[in-house]
Amino acid sequence: MADMNWINEMEGRIPVGGVRTRFAPSPTGYMHVGNLRTALYTYLIARHYDGTFILRIEDTDQGRLVEGAVDVIYKTMRECGLSHDEGPDVGGPVAPYVQTQRKGFYIKYAQWLVERGHAYYCFCEKTESEEEEASFVRTADPCRNMSKEEVEAKLAAGMPYVIRQRIPEEGSVTFHDEIFGDITVECSTLDDQVLIKRDGLPTYNFANVVDDHMMGITHVVRGSEYLSSAPKYNLLYEGFGWNIPKYVHCSPVMRDAHNKMSKRHGDPSYEDLIAQGYLTEAVVNYVTLLGWSPRGEYAEQEIFTMDELIKVFDLQGISKSPAIFDIEKLRYFNSAYIRAMESEAFAKVAEPFIRQAVKNEAYDAAAIAAILQQRCEVLTDIPEKVDFFDELPEYEAELYIHKKSKTDIPGSLEMLKKMSAVFEATEDWSDENILTAMTDMAAAEGVKNAKVMWPVRIAIAGKAVTPGGAVEIARILGKEETLRRMAFGIEKLEKSL
Ligand code: GLU
Repeated sequence: MADMNWINEMEGRIPVGGVRTRFAPSPTGYMHVGNLRTALYTYLIARHYDGTFILRIEDTDQGRLVEGAVDVIYKTMRECGLSHDEGPDVGGPVAPYVQTQRKGFYIKYAQWLVERGHAYYCFCEKTESEEEEASFVRTADPCRNMSKEEVEAKLAAGMPYVIRQRIPEEGSVTFHDEIFGDITVECSTLDDQVLIKRDGLPTYNFANVVDDHMMGITHVVRGSEYLSSAPKYNLLYEGFGWNIPKYVHCSPVMRDAHNKMSKRHGDPSYEDLIAQGYLTEAVVNYVTLLGWSPRGEYAEQEIFTMDELIKVFDLQGISKSPAIFDIEKLRYFNSAYIRAMESEAFAKVAEPFIRQAVKNEAYDAAAIAAILQQRCEVLTDIPEKVDFFDELPEYEAELYIHKKSKTDIPGSLEMLKKMSAVFEATEDWSDENILTAMTDMAAAEGVKNAKVMWPVRIAIAGKAVTPGGAVEIARILGKEETLRRMAFGIEKLEKSL
């Protein structure tokens, strides 16, 4: 007998009115890009409609449990600004929010579904692989039409059982998806799936439907891999006599035209992207646009703050076609975010990367950050861009030859000698004084500034491409080190004559 008192109490707890969405990750130990996108869309729908955003942990697959995996979920959501209103850590009216803590709930609902005629006890000793065989004919299952007395006798005798969904023998089922529209499936193609396993625990498909109902979820946002299960979910909702939520199935995020992104094949997860030097805000912005496009007055906009996304996000903008993850596009977003940051904020995120290469604390990390900010796409580019501060790299005298600056070896040698003398006499080592020293020299010699600055920069950086020009680099290195490096350049040039 179904425990109707308990069921009624549970039904009474379900919040009504208002949008309620849930992000329901399984704790795998990392957040793949597709999952992050589901979290984002789920969050944005809730916030857009002033609704409630719920975090539910789907940990019934104990075989896949990973230590610390739930913390990865909390951490990622916190970093990405996806604050939940209800969840395991903050509680809420329909707690608990962890599936393993709801273990006892599902059998009660399954018993009720049996009484409503949409599920049945099955005592057959079938293994999982037997069930998956095509030869298994559902309607021929002897348990499907067993009399109530017979079932009760077997239960009383303690026979092991599973509970299966009773799919109608004939007809079809139509469900509506917000993205894919109406989809109709013949009942004959659906199997009497197991709802409660022999150990009394629910299957994923059943737990998911019961939880979504018990938590009053209005919009079920998830990956399109669940689309094929949706007809069976619909029949469950109908069997219980429940309102069907809006389904929002999102097409996969692909690595290329044919393959889904996958951690197993080396595609980056959210954590990997952060470790590779991408900023959370850029990842969030880019991932939101993977499969969703703003419309109307925002159609051309690419860079969005979270508040703007909340305002603009709509279901109509979600695409049916799979989106391809393009790391180059993400780099583009990332550099745009870096360029737009406050300089102090950039210095803060850049410092650890600067210090990977520049161990000498005499060189100010914030000053180095300032010359990097406009020239940096991802933070991991930083160390190799600034490694010359700690140590002048090995370089060839040919580096002084630069057509555009009209420099050659004898000319560079002469300039370095003259500039060394001027720098030697420069008292206040400021950008302005360093610059004036060089432009005055160019004017006096009747040459373009580049003819002075190129050799100076090569001498002090030992590299053709550097963030910042001769002035900033000289200022950061300090007068003494600048002169030491120039002297070394002079020596090198003399030798190569
Ligand atoms: N736990 C499922 C997953 O991580 C979520 C499915 C759903 O949102 O319904 O794929």
